Amino acid sequence: MTLQFDVSLLSQEEIGAVRKHSVDCDMLVGGNAKHGQIVGGVPLLSTVEGVFAKASLSGTAADQCSRCLEDIHVTLQLEIQEEFISSVDPVSGAQLAPPDDPDAFRIDAIQILNLEEAVRQAWISVRPIQSLCEPGCSGLCSECGKNLNQSPCACSPALDERWGPLRELAQEMKGT
Ligand SMILES: [Zn+2]
Ligand SMILES: [Zn+2]
Repeated sequence: MTLQFDVSLLSQEEIGAVRKHSVDCDMLVGGNAKHGQIVGGVPLLSTVEGVFAKASLSGTAADQCSRCLEDIHVTLQLEIQEEFISSVDPVSGAQLAPPDDPDAFRIDAIQILNLEEAVRQAWISVRPIQSLCEPGCSGLCSECGKNLNQSPCACSPALDERWGPLRELAQEMKGT
């Protein structure tokens, strides 16, 4: 199954007619050539200018924890509400004038509505800036590179820069 829907019949129906589709497919999402599994329902509704897609999808992709670099999966909820404007008249097949908004989604000349770009944009808008394996991930030791979620390492905690101000304070107190 893909994210492309043939809307040739739907766009000939009366305004407000609905066709329910569902998707379960792989696609490249976001940056870094991430491969996502996209699953969910895609009701398509006939409008004056084309077809309105109101998709509620769940997307899952392999990722990496930005602190400890472990492989993880992120699952994002993607809500898509976009109107796709017809580029040809559904009945006569005659070319229609392009919409005023140059960024508007279009249904192509053979009446295929391709949801892929809308899914990609939705993914980019909801993905976390930093993916974490868990909110409290301890990350890697900046000295020895050990994964501190597994066990603490032997490096001196004083080397942790978060303790810097405290260390300076301790030295000041010692000096007085
Ligand atoms: Zn982590
Ligand atoms: Zn260490």
